[in-house]
Amino acid sequence: MSDSYFKTLEAAGHTLQRDGDGHVDIFVLDVENHNGPGCTTCGDAWCHHCQDTPTRCDGGVAKKERERVGRIRDAAEQMLDALRASQRLAPMRAELDDIQGHDGHEKDCRQLAREIKAVEKQVAAAIHAATYSK
Ligand SMILES: [Zn+2]
Ligand SMILES: [Zn+2]
Repeated sequence: MSDSYFKTLEAAGHTLQRDGDGHVDIFVLDVENHNGPGCTTCGDAWCHHCQDTPTRCDGGVAKKERERVGRIRDAAEQMLDALRASQRLAPMRAELDDIQGHDGHEKDCRQLAREIKAVEKQVAAAIHAATYSK
């Protein structure tokens, strides 16, 4: 009977995901012939047919750690993109210096200045993300 297995899971400290009527959701885990409930705190899920012995709920520590690693990876990728973009800054600034003040180049100047600003913004956003991805 699944009810006793649910009690085993709850005794291990897990909080089972339930629907609005309070019934345990037995499709949190759903892989081929295996399905069963999951914990809303730690994200673990078990097959209620196989009834594997659960480990104690870690209170979401492992889940938070996975999320933290994900945020750091995202920030690193963002930083790498910004770094690639920032390599265009020096030639763009040099070009802007060259054409600035010359007649007929007002439009190009405005365009270049806009592009430089966009790259600077991208770099600032990447630094911000890296700083707060803890
Ligand atoms: Zn748990
Ligand atoms: Zn199973």
